Amino acid sequence: MTQEAYKLYIDDVIRRVETARLQVSGHHIVKTVAVSKYSTTEEIKALYNIGQRAFGENKVQDLKAKAKELEDLPIEWHFIGNLQKNKINNLLDIHPTLFHALDSIELAQELQKKLLAKEMTLNCLMQINAAKEASKHGVMPEEALEMYLQIEKECPNIKLKGVMSIGAHSQDKELIKKSFETTYAIYKQLPNATICSMGMSSDLELAIESGSNMIRLGSILFNK
Ligand SMILES: *Cc1c(COP(=O)(O)O)cnc(C)c1O
Repeated sequence: MTQEAYKLYIDDVIRRVETARLQVSGHHIVKTVAVSKYSTTEEIKALYNIGQRAFGENKVQDLKAKAKELEDLPIEWHFIGNLQKNKINNLLDIHPTLFHALDSIELAQELQKKLLAKEMTLNCLMQINAAKEASKHGVMPEEALEMYLQIEKECPNIKLKGVMSIGAHSQDKELIKKSFETTYAIYKQLPNATICSMGMSSDLELAIESGSNMIRLGSILFNK
């Protein structure tokens, strides 16, 4: 695709996001994180060149390699994947803007230790396993509020900003919507939370309708 054609293609995606957010309210702002996990740095640059600034990766080693290769660009990097304890230091060295997938007290405690040692803080979201799927990471909905408050209290270097969830793995729109609504209901109970990260290429409208203010789009933005 030429850059001109790609721009027109992206305009269509932006129009879909705009239409969905305006249906909620003109005041409802939705931020898009471009998930570049299946894309090359050349493809990231192409999207950067038409205005995208926030990008997300789900593997620490990929984030590290791409952030290094693109270090001259003022990209805002998000880490959206599962974090293993032995990768924490590698992640922190990249200074990501936001970690979307904090999913246990144990991980929070380990992260807190490493942050303290580096005299750093990290913006984080708690991942919610809203549809209670065995294949997914995340905190069970009924445990989320208590765990969120505990992390806030015990881990001062972790700056909790809200929640992240992946929509139910289903063809049934109602089930997907229900999973988003579960996450949104938790988000509304959290003190000072400002980010509700939900919605991917296949369910962005459903997520925005349900209250999402941060969508993570991979395949649709990179035309895969
Ligand atoms: C891959 C991924 C996405 C993007 O998925 P698409 O369907 O390609 O838009 C969003 N969030 C997470 C956590 C992912 O791993």
